[in-house]
Amino acid sequence: MSAEGEEQGSGGYDSSCIFCRISNNPERDSELLHSDEELACFKDIRPGAPYHYLVVPKKHVGNCKTLTSDHLQLVQNMVEVGKTMLRKNSVTDLEDIRLGFHWPPFCSISHLHLHVLAPASQLGFLSRMIYRLNSYWFITADQLIERLQANVRAS
Ligand SMILES: [Zn+2]
Ligand SMILES: [Zn+2]
Repeated sequence: MSAEGEEQGSGGYDSSCIFCRISNNPERDSELLHSDEELACFKDIRPGAPYHYLVVPKKHVGNCKTLTSDHLQLVQNMVEVGKTMLRKNSVTDLEDIRLGFHWPPFCSISHLHLHVLAPASQLGFLSRMIYRLNSYWFITADQLIERLQANVRAS
């Protein structure tokens, strides 16, 4: 046992974190729509659209503001899992979807999580606010990937 996992955001397991618990607890396996070595996917408990999934890393990774270019592959994998889940559930129009992250401090949970919503055209009034494009509280997956790629070029 190392002390590493004790630190928040160090990429370990944080027993006080709900997403660490959901994605790493075998007893909650039935809640997981997808589970592999790195990532887990489950339904958002407060769906903002007919399809609303969350994709999370199994290790505790902090919010999107703290990510670096090292996380580029992770974020791309999260997007891939999100799209795969939609396809598996017969969502065929992958143009009409919204994928993104809440920007701190507008996160209720600090564990990195990708919101996957579809169809984007059927978001309710409140959801259109919560998952609003070009707002200072929500960043799309594409925008985040661009940001991380810019970090790669800068370093
Ligand atoms: Zn966590
Ligand atoms: Zn969120």
